[in-house]
Amino acid sequence: MISLSIPDYGDIELKHVVSDYNGTLAVDGILIEGVADALRTLSEHIEIHVVTADTFGLAKAQLAGLPVTLVIAPPENQADTKLDYIRKLGAANVVAIGNGRNDRKMLEHAALGIALIQKEGAAAETLRSADVVSTSILEALDLLSNTKRLKATLRS
Ligand SMILES: [Mg+2]
Repeated sequence: MISLSIPDYGDIELKHVVSDYNGTLAVDGILIEGVADALRTLSEHIEIHVVTADTFGLAKAQLAGLPVTLVIAPPENQADTKLDYIRKLGAANVVAIGNGRNDRKMLEHAALGIALIQKEGAAAETLRSADVVSTSILEALDLLSNTKRLKATLRS
């Protein structure tokens, strides 16, 4: 568990990371360099879930052997599928990470929503639903280990 206490924002206990795959952890279906190690390190503190339509059909092979729960969901109604998934885990204990329009609802309802602008860009609506916007998945995952950085970003 990762505990955060942010002035004028609140106390949060994060038990789960729920991440999108393409545009977030991967580019064109291939994991971004350094992500595998970052996920291994992070998994010592928090449960990691990847929910994806798996557009390129590579997620299972790319994530093989990594300490993550992979959920491949049909492309229809992804925004609601992702929202339902974090609600089942308990949205108050979830940090959601994504870039696409279908990530907007989980980012909005999670205790902490991180939007990423990397090679695929990000949906503007998703940026508006986020608490934090980052330009690198490695830096975003690092925020969860260096919670003072998050505190500095989110405090009022
Ligand atoms: Mg995406």
